[in-house]
Amino acid sequence: MPSKLAVLTDFDGTITRTDVAEAILEEFAPASWWDIEELHRARKIGTRESMAREFALLHAKQADLIRFVDDHVEMDDTFRDFAAFCQRRKIPLEIVSEGLDFYVRHLMRRWELRLPLRTNHAVFEEGSVRIEYPWADATCTLCGTCKLLRLFQLRTEGYRIAYVGDGHSDLCPALEADHVFAKAELAQLCDQEEIAYISFDRFADVQRNVVGLT
Ligand SMILES: [Mg+2]
Repeated sequence: MPSKLAVLTDFDGTITRTDVAEAILEEFAPASWWDIEELHRARKIGTRESMAREFALLHAKQADLIRFVDDHVEMDDTFRDFAAFCQRRKIPLEIVSEGLDFYVRHLMRRWELRLPLRTNHAVFEEGSVRIEYPWADATCTLCGTCKLLRLFQLRTEGYRIAYVGDGHSDLCPALEADHVFAKAELAQLCDQEEIAYISFDRFADVQRNVVGLT
């Protein structure tokens, strides 16, 4: 087994205490976004299609969304220590997100955290939002950012992968990761799919366990 460990983490609901994309839709989109979300949760459509359709319903200016994010989104306050821990131990820590770059990058700047990240790209056009997928896998149309692709790239470089996540879009990498940290819907999905995982609530829990993995 390769000895080097790398950590890949989700952003929404994992680094943040709540799902930012969902909070934005709840506030700025008509309630019909839930019809699309239900199709997604029933795995009838992928994340790429659900995000595009949900955000197409939204009519808001980027500045209003940023103001909302600043007022409502809270970081897991133990994530900063975890990032510093990984840096000290020379454990690569990267974000793979099915969220949108305008709020992920804004929050990372505000928190003064610099980490490699892959996320979807929001294009604001006359009050609506179109989404582009710079990190998609050309052979799969389900997801926007392919979290699995980054996992395989790191594995090719000789890393064991610990994956940290909370939702549906984390199932693909959880199936392949060497160590899985799961909460909320991801924990339920891991139970259903019989994927072994370590429960966590905050990154302090992840850090305690990663110590034993290095
Ligand atoms: Mg999430």
